[in-house]
Amino acid sequence: MNLRAQDGSEALWLENARVPEALVQGLSVRGHDHRTGLAITDIGIATDGTFTSDPTGARRIDLAGRIVLPTFIDSHVHLDKAYIVRRTGIPAGGLLDAVRLSGADAPNWTIDDLLARMERALSRAHANGTSALRTHLDTPVLPSESPAWHAFDRLRTQWRGRVEMQAVALMALERIDDAADYAERCRQIAERRGILGAFIAPGMATPERLDNLFEAAGRYGLDVDFHVDETLNPEARGLDLICESLERTGFAGRVMAGHCCSLGTMPPADRDRIIAMTQRAGVHVVALPTSNLFLQDRQPLATPLRRGITAVRELRAAGASVHFASDNVQDPFFPYGDFDMLDIFRTAVQVAHLDDDVGGWIAAQFDNGARACGLADHGRLSAGHPADAIILEARDLYDLMSRHHGARVVLRRGIALPPAPTALPAFPAPEFA
Ligand SMILES: [Zn+2]
Repeated sequence: MNLRAQDGSEALWLENARVPEALVQGLSVRGHDHRTGLAITDIGIATDGTFTSDPTGARRIDLAGRIVLPTFIDSHVHLDKAYIVRRTGIPAGGLLDAVRLSGADAPNWTIDDLLARMERALSRAHANGTSALRTHLDTPVLPSESPAWHAFDRLRTQWRGRVEMQAVALMALERIDDAADYAERCRQIAERRGILGAFIAPGMATPERLDNLFEAAGRYGLDVDFHVDETLNPEARGLDLICESLERTGFAGRVMAGHCCSLGTMPPADRDRIIAMTQRAGVHVVALPTSNLFLQDRQPLATPLRRGITAVRELRAAGASVHFASDNVQDPFFPYGDFDMLDIFRTAVQVAHLDDDVGGWIAAQFDNGARACGLADHGRLSAGHPADAIILEARDLYDLMSRHHGARVVLRRGIALPPAPTALPAFPAPEFA
């Protein structure tokens, strides 16, 4: 199988792929592998770089049952913080220590520093098979005065066609209290096709603040993306208040809620009531397993006993939209990671015990991630759409979840990406010396 030699000038017919059937549209499904829950499918790639079900004139390549996935959507990352752990070190305690370390490093975030780190992040995400990515950007000043937003604007243009980028203005919810300032922020976010973000610490959310936020988002046509209830404190009820505000305001945009850890620690009756509201309100929950594992129940010299992840199984069982994303990579919120959604998904399977339905969770991951980000073209293998896919050296879900997939083949518009360089670019001295 030498797809890397392919230059796009000939049509291909990739026979005997295993794919999550729910993610296939208009391609030739030949049978079902009940052992894996995946469908055996032939995947055609036309010379214009789109998927097709027509094998006429195509060169046949037997994938011999290898698993093929759509390219990934990473719906929640922090490009502005990526890789700063080399300067900050790791926190002794949990979230607040990480916030403090990150804040102390922020004066180093010049445009050149941001571009170097964000570029490396995008290179890794792209090589790993991510085709769309939503990043939060700390926005303590107006976007027009923010080096992070300037770097983002530049990179979004440079990476167009490789990684589709969305940005969320991450601000504490209480900024809404200064109405004039908040209106100008919303105007600038809309001008940049951005998303309104809010960080909600326990006790910060009030009905009035949330109603005002959704009113402002509606006025400026913004989707909303929260960091909420990132705590094991079962009293944290930010998600509850968000859902109530959505019912009151009738806000029509998309809403994503990241973390929601307290759902996993509160009494089951409260949890199930809030999950039912989340489902009714159409809020997309994004669980962030690596940063939750790292920051929740983190105490000096103590073994953590609680996992911190939200109630993902209960959310999905209730019909709510839930998926996973990277969150932090090599920063004080999580000091490891490589912008690899396969690693994130593997962690999620183990942490949340998704083992009984890995195939179903894969389909939910792509489907819910695409809907949460409003990226209808992503997350599936559809005839007539760009032939973006990842071919993995795995023939069943055990291999998929076990092996290191450094040798994956990433197809973009039907052409295999060249192998990613093994040597990473150096960071500029002296900060990273
Ligand atoms: Zn985050």
